[in-house]
Amino acid sequence: MLSVIIPSFNEEPNIQNTASVISGVLDENGIDFEIIFSDDGSRDNTWREITLAHEKDPRVSGLRFSRNFGKESAIWAGLEAAKGDCAVVIDCDLQHPPKVIPEMYKLWQNGAEVVEGKKSSRGKENGIYKAFSKLFYKLIASASGIDMADTSDFKLLDRKVIDAILSMQERTTFFRALSGWVGFRSETITYDVEERAFGERKWTPKMLIKYAIKNLMAFTSVPLYLSGVLGGIISVASVILFILKWCGVSMGSFGGSQILLLLTGGLILICLSIIGRYLAQIYEEIKHRPKYIISDSIKSQGGQND
Ligand code: UDP
Ligand code: MG
Repeated sequence: MLSVIIPSFNEEPNIQNTASVISGVLDENGIDFEIIFSDDGSRDNTWREITLAHEKDPRVSGLRFSRNFGKESAIWAGLEAAKGDCAVVIDCDLQHPPKVIPEMYKLWQNGAEVVEGKKSSRGKENGIYKAFSKLFYKLIASASGIDMADTSDFKLLDRKVIDAILSMQERTTFFRALSGWVGFRSETITYDVEERAFGERKWTPKMLIKYAIKNLMAFTSVPLYLSGVLGGIISVASVILFILKWCGVSMGSFGGSQILLLLTGGLILICLSIIGRYLAQIYEEIKHRPKYIISDSIKSQGGQND
């Protein structure tokens, strides 16, 4: 069975339509499924609509948060509730085209354990948002080695992958990156981002900036290196200046005490970066991520203890 997980925040006008479009596509293709709406503390009638959708089709179920915990938590709750042999995560507004799900499912049947939905076009996003997300993914890629350009939360995961992701004990989860981090046999499928079916986009610029900073911090400690590098450059520069001064090169009003101040600033930055590195290491440790994830294993037969 396929579990379809749909994070939903204030999606009242979308629920019925999304449920019927997705179930239509899956029924047409003879795929056994359940739909799980993860209501992320909506303030409109999303929950009532989910209840109605369930009455119409018992394969539709729902979870309701007590308040808005964010899309990441909504996806996580859906993964925990999923009973399928594989699960697909899809937005509620049909910007991720449901007609792609059967293709993903076929790839899964042919052995893929992760099927990544990759945007072939980003739809009608404004320039600032595009530039912002490009920079964000560049930073994440350089830090984690996972290329996530044009990826989205639209993916299909095998049961093994779901269980591996759910075994992560960190609280700040970044689904898009974790599904790459766990490994497994992965295939990519491209799709065109559609227009939002109904309603407005749920992310405000403030929410997006908070989301980006939180996930960058969860996946990289590059800024700590940067402060160390900056400290190093300042320190070296001040030593060079000091030597030049010593040799009698004229520097106008730039005196010895200013050079000393520069050097002190540089050394403080280096020290901060060292302390930061230890903090980052502690942070890595307390995430309690598994040291490895096994994808397959062959058990010996005929041993006395088997
Ligand atoms: N969403 C959510 N919690 C939030 C914000 C958004 O569950 O706090 C859901 C939303 O209902 C939708 C999906 O995440 O199903 C993507 O949101 P949206 O369409 O607003 O973002 P965009 O497609 O513009 O990235
Ligand atoms: Mg959307």
